[in-house]
Amino acid sequence: MPEEKSNLEEKLAFSPKPVWEGLDKEKVGIINSFNEDYRKFISDSKTERACVTNAKKVLEDNAFVDISEVKELKPGSRIFKINKNKNMAFAVIGREDLRKGCNILASHIDSPRLDLKARTIYEDGDAMMAVLKTHYYGGIKKYQWVNTPLAIHGKIVKENGESIDLCIGENSDDPVFIISDLLPHLSKKQQGDRKMRDVIKGEELNVLMGGIPIDDEDVKEKIKLNILNILNEKYGIIEEDFVSAEIELVPSGPARDVGLDRSMLGAYGHDDRVCAYTSMMASVEMETPSRTSVVILYDKEEIGSVGNTGASSLFLESFMSDLLDKTDDGCGVKDIQNMMESSMAISGDVSPGVNPSFKGVHEMMNAAKLGCGIVITKFTGAGGKFSGNDAPAEYIAFLRKIFNEKDIRWQPCELGKVDEGGGGTVARFIANKNVEIIDAGPPVLGMHSPFEIVSKADVYETYKAYKAFLESKWI
Ligand code: MN
Ligand code: MN
Repeated sequence: MPEEKSNLEEKLAFSPKPVWEGLDKEKVGIINSFNEDYRKFISDSKTERACVTNAKKVLEDNAFVDISEVKELKPGSRIFKINKNKNMAFAVIGREDLRKGCNILASHIDSPRLDLKARTIYEDGDAMMAVLKTHYYGGIKKYQWVNTPLAIHGKIVKENGESIDLCIGENSDDPVFIISDLLPHLSKKQQGDRKMRDVIKGEELNVLMGGIPIDDEDVKEKIKLNILNILNEKYGIIEEDFVSAEIELVPSGPARDVGLDRSMLGAYGHDDRVCAYTSMMASVEMETPSRTSVVILYDKEEIGSVGNTGASSLFLESFMSDLLDKTDDGCGVKDIQNMMESSMAISGDVSPGVNPSFKGVHEMMNAAKLGCGIVITKFTGAGGKFSGNDAPAEYIAFLRKIFNEKDIRWQPCELGKVDEGGGGTVARFIANKNVEIIDAGPPVLGMHSPFEIVSKADVYETYKAYKAFLESKWI
């Protein structure tokens, strides 16, 4: 009796279900239209500063206001706070006393990239070129960043405080910038025996800037000066201004559909702007919740959540005390502590999906597959869960329930085989504040590469899961 067996299997056995399977045209349309909006956001938000600027626009369009402009918060109030232009939090105030806790979604908006050095421009007299020196940010495979068109994004602050925003290389008639790799004909000795991490070395990540000399006999480095002259004419800057600048080289161009069925979206910076975007969209669509919903977008996750805009900063506490301060819920140290220890959070971050060419790094039963929904990662860390966050069974049971009730597709996952490697997210820093937290976000292929891949279905399931979480009530 095969039917009965299959029922029993359905009842007792567990295996994650693909999102696309059995979807009607209308549901596929909803997934695609959500991803079209995400495509615009990710294509236009290539730095942490740009993410903050663009998120602020979306929030203001949805009736969120700067918290400094609000005297009193009431259930339904929608507010945001920006921290040093690189990190922000926003909230929809709920009906319950804040000291009973909030639902917090935390993600990060910095992505691996190449930063310019303080003294960056030099002329190579042998190559007859002007070149820029870079210093990479975050964990990249350096060889992936050569021979691919790059754009310059960033901010220069002059000595007089004037601030200049740069964005060159995104419009189709803009120039792009490139780090040129060695040709195969001559690379056998120089590169052939290098280990993978050294195929391209840090000091070889030099960007071609130009080759036309300035027309002035007395100048020694004519090509370099010509580039400085172009920059000065267009932006009014001098070489010393690069010392007080944050200029990032990122892959040029918009996000693209991937695959003949267009089921995937390729872009720079899915890690972790896909979670930032889905968190934000879940938040803007909130009605007045029972528990206050907080979304926080961090900077500096890729270099260890350090600094005053990273997850180990006091910004979350500062935002929480702002909320308490503007309600009647008390705002002493004990009130903030009560609020933190009664809060639950999702660390929205991406997980590695199974790459068909490199399956060996995964233990397939606990590996995330593109198109199978949001990934729940109980613990992170490496070498025996070291330095990770480990979410409690009680909390995971609750999340299973709210996801299953809304038919949200999800899959449990570990970062790779037990001894293969590892990593962490903002989760452990928020857990330190005595908040219950777990990692959950979509799987990604080619993480930290110039062109990361997600499944559009997972982007939408992540949004649905985040919305269900923000609307939920556990304790
Ligand atoms: Mn991440
Ligand atoms: Mn990352």
